[in-house]
Amino acid sequence: LPIIAIKGVSKRYPNDVVALENISFSLEKGEFCFLTGPSGSGKSTLLRLLYCAERPTSGDIFIDGVNVKTIKQTYIPILRRRIGVVFQDFKLLQDRTVFENVALALEVIGFNRDQIALRVNKVLENLGLGGKGKRYPQELSGGEQQRVAIARAIVNRPPIILADEPTGNLDPQRTMEVLDIMDELNARGTTILFATHDERLFEGTMRRVVRLQDGRLEVEYS
Ligand code: ADP
Ligand code: ADP
Repeated sequence: LPIIAIKGVSKRYPNDVVALENISFSLEKGEFCFLTGPSGSGKSTLLRLLYCAERPTSGDIFIDGVNVKTIKQTYIPILRRRIGVVFQDFKLLQDRTVFENVALALEVIGFNRDQIALRVNKVLENLGLGGKGKRYPQELSGGEQQRVAIARAIVNRPPIILADEPTGNLDPQRTMEVLDIMDELNARGTTILFATHDERLFEGTMRRVVRLQDGRLEVEYS
C-alpha cells in the first residue's frame, strides 16, 4: 500500500485558475521523490492538498490508505501529525525562541515538559543547533532558521516530510546542508516529497523526479 496515493486529482481555485489537472502518482513508504516544474506549475498546490490546507476539486488523495476527502474535520489534525512540512520562508514564530518554536509541535499533542525538553534538545543537537535554543529566529542565519523549521517538522517523528522549495532562500552551501538532512531522514525511513524548480538539486542523483507543467504531470522518471 503506497503511503501517498494521488488519483485523478484536479484543483481549480475560486478565481477559475486550474492549478492541477488530472494528476495521478503515488509514493511508496520510504521513497524520496523530487517534485519539479517551473514557477506556477502547481507544486505548492499539490503539497497543500497533501497536508489538507486545500481540498481537491475532483479526484482522490490517500494518506496511509485513508481518503482525505472523506475524513471528518476533527481528524485532520491527527492526519497532519503524520506529515512534517517545511517551507521556503521557514514560517517560524518570530516572538518565540528556537526551543519554543520546536516545542510547540509536541505541546499540542500533550507531551509533558520533561519529554519535550528531551526531544527538542536532542533534535536541535542533531541538526547542529545545540547552542541556539534560547535565540530568536531573527538572530539566526537563513540556513539556521531553515534547520529550526526542519527540527519543528520532524520533532514528532512524522513518517512523511513535505518540503516546498525549502532551499529557495538559501545559498549553495546551506542548500547542500538541507539536502543532506533530507537524505539522512530518508535513510531513517521517512518518506520525502521535495518540491523545487531548481534542477541542480537532483541532477546526477538517482532520485525519482515528478515534473509538473501548467498543472499537468509531464514527465516522471525514477
Ligand atoms: P508552484 O508552486 O509550482 O509555483 P502554485 O501551486 O503556487 O505553483 O500555483 C499554480 C497556479 O495556481 C498558478 O497559476 C497560481 O497563480 C495559482 N494559484 C496558486 N494559489 C492560488 C490561490 N490561492 N488562489 C488562486 N490561484 C492560485
Ligand atoms: P530515540 O528514539 O532513542 O530517542 P532516535 O535515534 O530514534 O533516538 O532519534 C534520534 C533523533 O532523530 C531524534 O531527535 C528524533 O527526533 C530524530 N528522528 C528519529 N527518527 C526519525 C524519523 N523517522 N524522522 C525524523 N526524525 C527522526
